[in-house]
Amino acid sequence: MSLLDSALSFLKEAGEKAGLSEAELARLRQPDRIVEVALPITRDNGRVEVFRGYRVQHNNARGPYKGGLRYHPRVNLNEVKALAFLMMIKCAVADIPMGGGKGGIVVDPKKLSVRELEQLTRLLTQKLFPVLGPRLDVPAPDVNTGPQTMSWLVDEYSRLAGGFQPAVATGKPLALGGLPGREPATGFGGMMVLLELLRRLKANPKKMTLAVQGFGNVGYWFAVAAAKAGIRVVGIADSRGAIWSEGGLHPEQVAAYKKNMGSVVGFPGSKEVAAAKFLEQKVDILVPAALEDVITTRNASRVKARIIVEMGNGPVEAAAWQRLHKRGVALVPDILANAGGVAASYLEWSQNFSGAQSPEAENLARLEKIMVAAFAAVYEKAVELQTDTKTAAYAVALGRIATAMRLRGAA
Ligand code: NAD
Repeated sequence: MSLLDSALSFLKEAGEKAGLSEAELARLRQPDRIVEVALPITRDNGRVEVFRGYRVQHNNARGPYKGGLRYHPRVNLNEVKALAFLMMIKCAVADIPMGGGKGGIVVDPKKLSVRELEQLTRLLTQKLFPVLGPRLDVPAPDVNTGPQTMSWLVDEYSRLAGGFQPAVATGKPLALGGLPGREPATGFGGMMVLLELLRRLKANPKKMTLAVQGFGNVGYWFAVAAAKAGIRVVGIADSRGAIWSEGGLHPEQVAAYKKNMGSVVGFPGSKEVAAAKFLEQKVDILVPAALEDVITTRNASRVKARIIVEMGNGPVEAAAWQRLHKRGVALVPDILANAGGVAASYLEWSQNFSGAQSPEAENLARLEKIMVAAFAAVYEKAVELQTDTKTAAYAVALGRIATAMRLRGAA
């Protein structure tokens, strides 16, 4: 099932459970607007090359469209549509006043120079100018884009708008109105949710073991927060391999080792585990924080963890999710677990209107309030509807979106 088909099947099932009308479901099936642009840039060799760019704005009933910009050769309209829809859901689960959007350029950015990437980003901003804006559509970094991309976007947008407009994008560098605490926000946000779950399960974090697949921005900060909470991090995997130590791994030390050696593999005192077997090890909490569809109906029966936190986007395939749910595994869905990223974006965006820049500790305290409230809403909905947590998270989000649409008289 494609990402878009899977999102739309949740829309139908959870939307009906949340009491949405046929007309509301029909409206939410379609993006509000799709923009496709040609981006001709002059390459360093003097030749003109034309790239394709997209922006999909799914729904803005609750606030401006919000979502990343991805630069990747496999970007395609169906994927952008699915991701825009998921952003709408994620913002509503976190209860932040923003809608859903996503964009991208079909390009391999590794083949472009910095000057070419800047030109491409400025051109994309020019072409999207009529549909972007702090109150209209607010992009953020995604795959292969980052604070520098957002800086170019803000600069180009500000030029065209005739005044500094940092709130037109989030994920900016601190010097341009970025958020202190943005870097660890997604990983820390996931841990805030996990601690709430453990509290409800009356499980002592200090007696739990955890394994994390993916040791990038999300996996690393999640592991750091887990170790700080007293959870024993016994397994870590990256794209080159996986390591295990029953005595516990120190995430900061493993990261320092990876920085020098290029991988976690070989970390002193750990043993190597076959990557294919990593998710099947004996552990209490499993945190897939890298790729999509890593737990499928093929390996779900061999997964031994009692708790799975989806920190990546869609690591548990839909059919496997249902099997694990039936087996009584406690599942934290991606749209809740990794919503710390978009929650931090919201804090950044809202601070940009006043020019304030709160310290990291204050921002993380706000993040915690958002994540704890989101967890409570989802888990109460799961009990109320007698359903799994992903369906419940969709139902929470769709209920909120429908309320806004009804109040605004849109459907
Ligand atoms: P990243 O590029 O910083 O890190 C990805 C990590 O995954 C790397 O450590 C890489 O080595 C590892 N990896 C790649 N292939 C692997 C494999 N086959 N087996 C094991 N590990 C592998 O990316 P990130 O920002 O940490 O994002 C991770 C996931 O979280 C993605 O699905 C992303 O869409 C999602 N996400 C990220 C954010 C955010 O704020 N960064 C927010 C929401 C969702």
